[in-house]
Amino acid sequence: MATLKAVCVMKGDGPVEGVIHFQQQGNGPVKVTGKITGLSDGDHGFHVHEFGDNTNGCTSAGAHFNPEGKQHGGPKDADRHVGDLGNVTAKGGVAEVEIEDPVISLTGPHCIIGRTMVSNRYNARRLKT
Ligand SMILES: [Zn+2]
Repeated sequence: MATLKAVCVMKGDGPVEGVIHFQQQGNGPVKVTGKITGLSDGDHGFHVHEFGDNTNGCTSAGAHFNPEGKQHGGPKDADRHVGDLGNVTAKGGVAEVEIEDPVISLTGPHCIIGRTMVSNRYNARRLKT
């Protein structure tokens, strides 16, 4: 079974930046790992937005990626946007990301490649393979 990989480099207008790696075996869950720095301590929403357009920050990135027209929810909810990955938690300005998610995908209708990851409103960057 092929392993698919993608990477997202996050950089906003402020000090927030990060690198997030995505890895998926076949149709299995996607492992999301990486680190975001420059965040204020506490929880920050971590969501995939619909478009890869960052020309106007998270405004041009559109809403949460939601190909099935569901309600916004947490990552474990049955009713959630595909892009709803919940929160990351920053401590000492750093959020270590380690998520395994069965809903997002690197292929098919739930594919997140070419879209935008947004953590709070600071940082939006396009996902690349
Ligand atoms: Zn949502």
